Amino acid sequence: MTETTNVQSIGYLPPQISSHYITFEKGSKVLLFLNYFQIDDQSLILISPRNFEYSNLSFTMFSSNISPTYRTSKKLLVSMEQFKSIVSFNILLFCDLYQNNSAKTYSKQARSVESFINPNQCDQVNILTVPGEQEIDFKKVQQFLDCKFKSIKQLYKSNSLAYMDSPYKLYDVLYRFDKNTLLIEYFRFLIDNQIYNELSDIQQHYQVTNLDITLYKFFDSKELPNSMNSVQAIRKKFNNQTRDQHFYLLQQMKHINQMHHQADYQNLICPDCQNTSKCSFLVSKSQQIFLAGESELFAYPVPIEYVNLIGRLFSQLICQMMHYAKTQNVYNRMNNIAQIERIEEAISCPSFNLERNYQNLEMLGDSVIKYLTSAMLFEDKGLNNESLLSSLRIKLITNKHLSDVYSILQMRTMNSKIHYKKVRNHMTMTINDVDDFKLSRKQQADIYEAICGACYIRDYEFSDVIKFFKLTNFGFQGVFPNFYTGNCLIQFPDVQNSGIYPLKQQKQIKPFVQNSIYNQSLDKFEQFLGCKLSRLNEAMTVEDYERLEFLGDAILEFLIVANVHKECEKYYYSQDQQQMCREGKFESKLLLCPGMLHIAKISLLDNGFMGTMALYYGYHQYAIGLCQDTQNEIEKVLEALRQEEFNEFYLINQYSTQIPKIMSDLWESVAACIMIEYGWEGVVKVYGEMYKPYIQYVVQNIYSVYDYHQLINRNIQIEKN
Ligand SMILES: [Zn+2]
Ligand SMILES: [Zn+2]
Repeated sequence: MTETTNVQSIGYLPPQISSHYITFEKGSKVLLFLNYFQIDDQSLILISPRNFEYSNLSFTMFSSNISPTYRTSKKLLVSMEQFKSIVSFNILLFCDLYQNNSAKTYSKQARSVESFINPNQCDQVNILTVPGEQEIDFKKVQQFLDCKFKSIKQLYKSNSLAYMDSPYKLYDVLYRFDKNTLLIEYFRFLIDNQIYNELSDIQQHYQVTNLDITLYKFFDSKELPNSMNSVQAIRKKFNNQTRDQHFYLLQQMKHINQMHHQADYQNLICPDCQNTSKCSFLVSKSQQIFLAGESELFAYPVPIEYVNLIGRLFSQLICQMMHYAKTQNVYNRMNNIAQIERIEEAISCPSFNLERNYQNLEMLGDSVIKYLTSAMLFEDKGLNNESLLSSLRIKLITNKHLSDVYSILQMRTMNSKIHYKKVRNHMTMTINDVDDFKLSRKQQADIYEAICGACYIRDYEFSDVIKFFKLTNFGFQGVFPNFYTGNCLIQFPDVQNSGIYPLKQQKQIKPFVQNSIYNQSLDKFEQFLGCKLSRLNEAMTVEDYERLEFLGDAILEFLIVANVHKECEKYYYSQDQQQMCREGKFESKLLLCPGMLHIAKISLLDNGFMGTMALYYGYHQYAIGLCQDTQNEIEKVLEALRQEEFNEFYLINQYSTQIPKIMSDLWESVAACIMIEYGWEGVVKVYGEMYKPYIQYVVQNIYSVYDYHQLINRNIQIEKN
């Protein structure tokens, strides 16, 4: 039985990471999956027991740019002997990095080779690493094992890690000297390398007043005053009979979890790695020293570049591979109805990835679900009043329903990062927690929405979302072709941001109606809209428009959200921008956030905007059954609108309370009328044209629009308190 101290939970481990390795030919052959990563200008191979599929996105950890070299793992069949050597290599290497090796060979707690090839009850991290660029460098593996098991040693030269045998310990070399090196030269070196700041500090630590001696003499003299512990230890062991001419002052190699000493692990940013030289096992700031004569010091038989790569990135790469595997599993379950890159995004919580997470797709998904369910319910002619429709729609889009259908796919998500300082050695450790991090119902619903968004933007086809509905037993039954085909995209011209609010310009060309003439014939309205509409009478009649308004509301919301999302991603969500943001070179508030999409949505869909638009295009003149009170209210607000300069983008929204709500309702019900007969093509032609300059304005000025609304909300909060 494993002791509890040997158990670590890092969340659910996908089979690609935790399965056993498959053996063939009576256990004489083992199947490996090689995963190649390009890391800056180096290449790294990680071996997994099952196949991985990768997206083509790169990512950054501790200032290293990492991308999977291929879209899938490469298969390789090796002999059992070779596999055993790889496992031994890993056990020995990681036990060195985690300082579990008291002796030079196996740590007592090390896992057995069988734990990699036997079907296991407990989840374990079964990812292995190997030296090599294009293929596994078995020669290096063997050299390492020879050194460990057969004591084939190589004297230390430079630029590698070093070890001494008795007792076995790994070091980085601090300082090389000979019998003539002066003590003061060494002290200067310590200051130059920022291990101490002042000479007086060193003198105090080393307890020396007389600097006019050699370093060799300093260690050799029994009559000098007692110095710091590590110096006293060196003096005790010092043997002046040595035939060595050169000596090394050493520091114990740092523990793998100490690699990025000052890092912000949430964002995987390390100030030391941001320099040209990244964190390395060869550099330590420890003040404790050890001494070795050149004949006692040996070169660690694995290239430092490779050991550093493992030390700097291994545990985070495991976390990233968990993400890849979970993405791949969702992708396969979904029969490719969304792009793998988007699924990566949809199953990430903000705690795993601040920039690329489900929040980016959630609002798009929310609107597509709302639109499709509204259209489906509208098709049912039996549902003849708006409140019945609304309550049925609410049932379908609540967190409860969405989290219920979410659970059907049994998706696994990324809800946190592995904290590299807390990760323990997977070559000795059993990782046995099958439970994943828990998601709230709200989070599950958000992820469900995000995946719907991901499905939709693959090709901007409703059919992909509907396929996902089927897969998750959402309960979708819509059939009317006009509602579920075509796409909602508006073609935007490449115009520079003039900063002038569109209505200010449009008003100069075509002002608001001077004298409203009520109850005009609908033929004239059809002429204005540019199409014949058989249900226009229903849409414009005060007592009758409710059902159409119910549908129109969802149509316009979706039209705005889908187009704003697409345009915003084009401008503010490039890979480069995300990258710069992670590195702190780009203010994170400048990156598109879900809050911004929400603001864009309300600034184009509130009663102020839609009501003003409806009045501007004269909808009130064709309304049927407007009472005198409403007409008076309309005339009053029209007078104000005629005077309004629209110098600021927010002015239009400030009319929200003054414009009778019926105006935005008519604005919506006419959109539904067009949809029923002409589908999305018709809606885009009429409403897309009217909305185009405003969407473009909001997208291009999203930061000022966002900041303004943030300020308003803050003031509302203050007033409340
Ligand atoms: Zn670092
Ligand atoms: Zn409405």
